[in-house]
Amino acid sequence: MHPVTEALLRWYDRNAREMPWRGIADPYGTWVSEIMLQQTRVETVRDYYPEFMARFPNVAALAEAPEEDVLKEWEGLGYYSRARNLHEGARQVMEEFGGVLPDSPDELRKIRGIGPYTSCSIASIAYNVPVPAVDGNVVRVICRLYDIHENPKEARVHAKIEGLAAELVPQNRAGDHNQAMMDLGATVCVPGTPDCDRCPLREMCRSCASGTAEDLPNMPRSKPPKEMDYDVMILCSAGRVLVYRRTETMLRGLWCFPMTEGHRKKEELSETIRKDFLMEGIRIQEAGEARHVFTHQVWRMKLYLVQTEAETPARAGYVWIPAEEIGNLAMPVAVSAARRVAESCAAGKHFQKN
Ligand code: SF4
Repeated sequence: MHPVTEALLRWYDRNAREMPWRGIADPYGTWVSEIMLQQTRVETVRDYYPEFMARFPNVAALAEAPEEDVLKEWEGLGYYSRARNLHEGARQVMEEFGGVLPDSPDELRKIRGIGPYTSCSIASIAYNVPVPAVDGNVVRVICRLYDIHENPKEARVHAKIEGLAAELVPQNRAGDHNQAMMDLGATVCVPGTPDCDRCPLREMCRSCASGTAEDLPNMPRSKPPKEMDYDVMILCSAGRVLVYRRTETMLRGLWCFPMTEGHRKKEELSETIRKDFLMEGIRIQEAGEARHVFTHQVWRMKLYLVQTEAETPARAGYVWIPAEEIGNLAMPVAVSAARRVAESCAAGKHFQKN
């Protein structure tokens, strides 16, 4: 066994983080946890994973569930395309793999939502297949361990990192090794200043010896997220609120309130509502502001509570829903503030008297 691997596994045996999806001998559970862990902190997944597994305990249960139920259970985890892909993937596993998650990375990659990293992490953790699972944590550890100063985003450099990571994977404890690398990257060899004094690989680490660990990995700066302005309209009529199910790529399938891009004056917004929703007799009032940061966008939202006449019909694609039932819909966290306003507008009690 490679000396790095030996030292790492010795450390892991004493320091492995306890997580509800570890040591479960259930490839489906490993799959769910790996999808949840993409772009989401371990602490958050710790809260969501048990409930999701209780609701959808196996591939068949997930495959049979309506998409709306899956999105509702995923609410708050963000990156909803993961939930939609996991759901479609479960159906695919039932139809194409007889309900059993395959063990080879190549086969796993045929399943919706499973990419190169996830296929290797599932294969190694669930089936002990000796392949490296190279995520951002592992890239950082390998760059520091071998003092690699090239840009890991370049295909050639990434391939080199994968090759070095593969040399470390043991035949008998591949899953433990990959999880040990993840734990080391998350708790010791952290971004910025690594805690080299506590590191089991310190004696073998080249960047630690040369004093360059803090500068690695040498990542190019990513673009800041684009700032987007929206007016969010919480349209109320006789204790009901107008919502629609998003068909846009971003947050597709989730329920939202009508939104228009840009910020307008109240009068202009009234005019838009009149024209777009053919509503008359509307009263509009400001209901605060909200901000939500996605990976590539920041939504800066102004909220407006709009009371309309009770008989106003919904526009195609939109539905009126009783304000007290809003909480049952799968909605993005981005519109949580608007949802609170909507919940409080049952029977129009929220409106100021003119
Ligand atoms: Fe990372 Fe420091 Fe350990 Fe090297 S010695 S792997 S830089 S924590």
